[in-house]
Amino acid sequence: METNQDEASRPFSPDTGRLSMEQTNNVISFQTITRNVGRYNLRDKTFLIPQMNRIGGRLLAAVFRGFGIRAQCIPTYKGLDLGKEFTSGKECYPCQITTGDILYFLKTEKERLGDAFDPEEYIYFMPESDGPCRFGMYNKYQRIVLDSFPEFAPVRIGSLTTRDGYSLDGIIDPDRVLDLRKTSFFSVVVADILDRLLWRIRPYEREPGAADAFVEGSTREMEEVFEREGARKRFDRILDALEGVVEEARAIIDPAVPRKPLIGIVGEIYLRTHEASNQHLIRVLERYGGEAVNASIAEWINYTAYDRLRETKIALRLALKQFRLGIVREQIREMAGFAGDLYYQEFRQRQIYKRIRALLDVAPDHRVAHLEKVLKKDDLYSFDLGTEACLSIAGIVEYAREGYNGVVNVYPFTCMPSTTTSAIVRPIMNDLGVPYLDTPYDSSTQPGREAAIRTFMYQAEQHFRRHGRNRHG
Ligand code: SF4
Repeated sequence: METNQDEASRPFSPDTGRLSMEQTNNVISFQTITRNVGRYNLRDKTFLIPQMNRIGGRLLAAVFRGFGIRAQCIPTYKGLDLGKEFTSGKECYPCQITTGDILYFLKTEKERLGDAFDPEEYIYFMPESDGPCRFGMYNKYQRIVLDSFPEFAPVRIGSLTTRDGYSLDGIIDPDRVLDLRKTSFFSVVVADILDRLLWRIRPYEREPGAADAFVEGSTREMEEVFEREGARKRFDRILDALEGVVEEARAIIDPAVPRKPLIGIVGEIYLRTHEASNQHLIRVLERYGGEAVNASIAEWINYTAYDRLRETKIALRLALKQFRLGIVREQIREMAGFAGDLYYQEFRQRQIYKRIRALLDVAPDHRVAHLEKVLKKDDLYSFDLGTEACLSIAGIVEYAREGYNGVVNVYPFTCMPSTTTSAIVRPIMNDLGVPYLDTPYDSSTQPGREAAIRTFMYQAEQHFRRHGRNRHG
């Protein structure tokens, strides 16, 4: 295959440095990006989960372990130098971070195990999404990078895709797929709740550091609970344990500390949930007097099911018009699957939030159908265009209408959906009179960033004094 890559974007060899054009052309073939990237059975393999959301990755690994899969959440941000070395600088920042994470892990593992290191033992998890942005290319690019290390080339990349709503078919025995899917989603919502619990109690803690230490301990406890109960779908026991955590957490709050301005966070899913890469934005907001609520991970999972359901409805209408009965049957079957997924996920989410919010006012989550209505009502954007902009634009408007005192949009520098979001919501937020801040990140530290956040928090404080807090708490 001919390539026109410039010098800076060619892959590297660990022995010889950057590969020659001829070697690069050998590495970059259609075969490379399809071979060893896909859906693999995880039996007897070590499943490597990148750490995006600190709590969510750990709970998900615990769920897989409960199903008998050797799963672990790999350390993050320790290999950033490697990530930068093996990318050209044109890739999205999360691609650099995750490339560094997997290289760092494999190199460390190889050093630890020596001759016993067997690359065929590992399956590295890197999902993808279709649509117009670059997330669909991370695992292909990382395949090329891993292939440039002869000792890592056999490491397979396990990929799930939004095309089928992150179906887990094929990665475990067929009779256990549904259970794994249900328990995995349950762990996603529990991780969201633990995050929301931390953000709810930390700004009001009696002792500095108490909330972080408590949530760290609670995460370990919930990992054990998921590993023990998850595969048997004992969701009541898991919820009982979570309720116990939330009840204990209430004691950390000092009732003498008055409520603070509430800040909503939206943006690109990796950056907004990966604390190191967003330079601990939530802590900085808290340092300047705020209480923050980040958009959840479950919202994205629900969005993928919702979006597939929406697409199958459109395809069904078209097939009916054209009287193509084979396609009609196929679309109805698919529609039923996605509708069932979405119904189940939203039911579980409501159930968990209801029980937890009876104990403590952690922030509730947005329903995706409602977010689409928000966009349609004011003709702000269309779900037809896809990407996270659908959720971010509607989420920002909802935060503003719910009475949040400010909203931050967090994203990797040059991120396409988030830049679109920013362009659309800025004038709206001006009209609504709600403070709004864009925080694009790459691996550098912007000198004015902290001053911008401090100024934003000053505005949020003024908003809070004039309008009070939002209607949820
Ligand atoms: S959402 Fe943004 S950061 Fe993520 S792949 Fe797309 S453009 Fe890159």
